[in-house]
Amino acid sequence: MQTDFLVIGSGIAGLTYALKVAEACPGKTVTILTKTQSDETNTKYAQGGIAGVMDFDKDSFEKHIEDTLIAGDGLCNPAVVEIVVREGVERIREIIEWGAKFDKDKDGDFALGREGGHSEFRILHHKDVTGKEMERALLEAISRKSNIQLVSHCFVLDIITQHHLGYLVTKSTPDIECYGVYVLNLSTNRIEKILSKITLLATGGNGQVYRTTTNPAIATGDGVAMLYRAKGRIENMEFIQFHPTALYEAGVRGQSFLITEAVRGDGGILRNHNGEAFMERYDERKDLAPRDIVARAIDNEMKISGTEHVYLDCRHFSKEKFTEHFPNIYEKCLSIGIDITKDMIPVSPAAHYSCGGVKTDEHGRTSVGNLYAAGECASTGLHGANRLASNSLLEAMVFAHRSYLDAVKKIEGVNFHTGIPDWSIDGTNAPKEMILITQSVKELKLLMSDYVGIVRNDERLQRAMKRLDLLYTETEALYQKTIVSPQLCELRNMITVAYLIVKCAGFRKESRGLHFNTDYPHRNARAQQIIL
Ligand SMILES: Cc1cc2nc3c(=O)[nH]c(=O)nc-3n(C[C@H](O)[C@H](O)[C@H](O)COP(=O)(O)OP(=O)(O)OC[C@H]3O[C@@H](n4cnc5c(N)ncnc54)[C@H](O)[C@@H]3O)c2cc1C
Repeated sequence: MQTDFLVIGSGIAGLTYALKVAEACPGKTVTILTKTQSDETNTKYAQGGIAGVMDFDKDSFEKHIEDTLIAGDGLCNPAVVEIVVREGVERIREIIEWGAKFDKDKDGDFALGREGGHSEFRILHHKDVTGKEMERALLEAISRKSNIQLVSHCFVLDIITQHHLGYLVTKSTPDIECYGVYVLNLSTNRIEKILSKITLLATGGNGQVYRTTTNPAIATGDGVAMLYRAKGRIENMEFIQFHPTALYEAGVRGQSFLITEAVRGDGGILRNHNGEAFMERYDERKDLAPRDIVARAIDNEMKISGTEHVYLDCRHFSKEKFTEHFPNIYEKCLSIGIDITKDMIPVSPAAHYSCGGVKTDEHGRTSVGNLYAAGECASTGLHGANRLASNSLLEAMVFAHRSYLDAVKKIEGVNFHTGIPDWSIDGTNAPKEMILITQSVKELKLLMSDYVGIVRNDERLQRAMKRLDLLYTETEALYQKTIVSPQLCELRNMITVAYLIVKCAGFRKESRGLHFNTDYPHRNARAQQIIL
C-alpha cells in the first residue's frame, strides 16, 4: 500500500495534522493508523483542559510564557514557548470551528479554570471531560474528509529506513530517511508494508512503563522506541511527570482514574492517614504547589506512614458545585462506594506525562528525513524539565499545525521509495507461552516504579539498568524466534523507553524539574539537555 501522508496515531496531534494536510492537498491521500479503537488515546482522558490566553484584560501572552518557563526550570526553549503560547490561541479557535465545545459562564464568556503553576485563569474545559470532547470533534471532522482513511487496529512495528535496504545505519549516518512503516494489521493478522512520502509520528506517551499510571493501555512509548531503533535523536526522557492525585483502588493495576488538580484548585485538601493537612509543611502554596512538589510530598507521606495512598478531602464542597464541575469524578467515586460529601478520596501519585521524547525542531521535523513528530511523543522544547498543566493539548495542536505547513511545502519533491523488501517471518514460530511476556511486563513496571519513580538515586538507577539489561536480552531472544504480536512488541518498546529514561536520568547529575536525585539534591549552574 502507498499513501502520500502517513499519520501514526489518532489522538489530538495526529488528527489535527491529518485534517490540515487533507484540506490543503485534496488530491493527495492521507492515512491514519491507530493500534486499537480510533478514540482510545491519552487525548480522550484529558480532564482539566487546554491552556490559552483568552481574557486579554487580565491575562497576557507574557504571563503564560513566564509561567511555562518557570515550570520548565531552565530547560525550555524560550523561542518555542513563545511560539506555542502565541500561536496556540489560533489553534484553539480552529478546534472550536471544527465543533469542540468549551464551557461558558452565564454571560457567554469562556468559563476559564486555573491550575497549579498558572498565574491566571486561562484553562478552557468541557466539564471534566475536555479531551473526550476534543477527540469527538476531531473524529467527526475527519469522517467528513473523503481523502482521509483511518485504519484502526493496525499496529505499527517499525519505521522503514535505509537499514531495511541493507545499509548500515548508525547515529552518525547523516541522511537517514523514512520511507514508510511495517504494520501488523490486527484485522487480517498479516504484516504489511505501507510506503509513504511523509510520515508523522503522533504515538502519544509512555505511562504504561510504570505500575501506576493515568495513561491508557496504548501508552507504551512505541513511537519513541521505533525512532530510537531507527537511530533518530531522543532527548530529556528523565522528565516523567507524576500526577499527584490518581484515585487509589486497592488491587487495581493498569490505568488509574485521574482526580484533576482543578479539584484542589477549587479547594480540595490533601490529608495524611492521621487526617493532617500536610502540604503546608512542604510549600507555602500548600495544595496548589506545582505538581512535582505535591507528588514528592505525597510520596514522602506515604513512605513515612508505610501506606499506599493519602486522602483528598472534598467533604466541605457543596454537592451541587462539585457535580456541576466534576460530574465524571463524582460518578466514578460513587461507583466504588465513595460519597465525596461524606468520605475522603484515597489518592496516590501516578505516571502521567512524558516531557521528553523524539527531538524536533520548530517545524516538527525529527532527525530522520521526511519524518515529523508532534504531541506527547515529541520533545519540541516547550516543557523543558517540567510541563505546565494543560499545556500539552496546546503544544500538540501547535506542532501538528507547524508540521503540516512544512510537510505540504515539501511533498511535491518527495517520491515513493522502491525496492523495499517485505517483512520476513523466516525462522519465527507462534509464541508458546504468553507468561514469558506478561511476567516481564510486570517486572519492568515494578522496577521502574520502585527505582526510577518520583525520587531517584544513583544506586537505584544502576540496579534498574542491570535488571533492564536482563529483560532486554531475554526479550530480544524471544523476539528473534517468535511471530510478532502487539504484546511482544509493546514489551520490547517499553524496555527501550525504560532504558532511555534510566540512561538520561543517570546522565543528569543534579535535581531539576521533575528529576529528583537524592545524591545530587541541587541544580547545576548550567542547564543542559540530555540528547541520546
Ligand atoms: C488522564 C489524563 C489527563 C490529562 N489531562 C490533560 C489536560 O487536562 N490538559 C492537557 O493539556 N493534557 C492533559 N493530558 C495529557 C494529554 O492528554 C496528552 O499529552 C495528549 O492527549 C497526547 O496526545 P497525542 O496526540 O500526542 O497522543 P494520544 O492522544 O495518546 O494518541 C496516541 C495515538 O497513537 C496510537 N499509537 C501508539 N502506538 C502505536 C503503534 N505502535 N501503532 C499504531 N498506533 C499507535 C494510539 O493508538 C493513539 O491513537 C492528560 C493525560 C491523561 C492520561
